[in-house]
Amino acid sequence: MIHKDHPRYKSLKLREKIVDAYKNGILAESGMIAHGRGEAFDYLLGEETTSNSKKAVQAAAAALILAKNPVISVNGNTVALVSNEIVKLADDLNARIEINLFHKTKKRISIIKNVLNDAGAKNILGTDHEAKALIKGLEGPRASSSREGVYIADVVLVPLEDGDRAEALVKLDKLLITIDLNPLSRTAKTATITIVDNIIRAIPNLIQAVHELNNVEDSTLHQIVRDFNNQENLDESLKKISDKHTGRVKP
Ligand code: ATP
Ligand code: MG
Repeated sequence: MIHKDHPRYKSLKLREKIVDAYKNGILAESGMIAHGRGEAFDYLLGEETTSNSKKAVQAAAAALILAKNPVISVNGNTVALVSNEIVKLADDLNARIEINLFHKTKKRISIIKNVLNDAGAKNILGTDHEAKALIKGLEGPRASSSREGVYIADVVLVPLEDGDRAEALVKLDKLLITIDLNPLSRTAKTATITIVDNIIRAIPNLIQAVHELNNVEDSTLHQIVRDFNNQENLDESLKKISDKHTGRVKP
């Protein structure tokens, strides 16, 4: 058992969740490695939400509210850490949830579907039951997407996505929102809006922002999306990391 007084308590609890998710078949081995990479950047960022992450959350919430067909694409890490919150966000936005795994097996899809169902999700996509369409530019099983989900979506929220798939989705003219602690990843650089924060903080922040912006005029929401500059925001994240460790700026 991890003692609450341990200085790395929160981070160690998250690791425990990730290891349990691996043991329960939600995560592939590589999911644990991906978590480790995220953890390293979270450490550098001070394990807290920065002002530029808040800005990205506002833009993401505005884009998701404006979307005609919003889809939240989930993988094992996302479901391991924030399944209840994802279901709440999808409900609030009237968005579909689609399972998209890097290491796809029927068994893992079925386990993840059950976790999401237990969290209250209905009509989950990305299982074997609905029509599929191929995403141009991707090979093998990763090219598959749901015809009524990611394939027709105008706005896709894909936390912790792989760079290749992010690039392919942007080429299809989707407004791509990602959550990625690494401001240097290909996904972070490719997405339209990147929230550089831990998914365990970013999704609750997004739920709150959607709540706050829900009754705001469309023209104002469009303006919030237009005013957001992803490259600038990523540069600010990198600057936060370096300033933090040279003692210049507080968050
Ligand atoms: P890319 O393919 O975009 O260049 P990558 O190959 O380095 O990135 P992947 O394994 O494809 O990384 O995706 C995992 C990404 O998710 C990493 O960038 C990692 O920092 C990030 N990540 C891991 N855990 C979390 C978390 N809890 N919250 C936010 N981001 C996370
Ligand atoms: Mg990758």
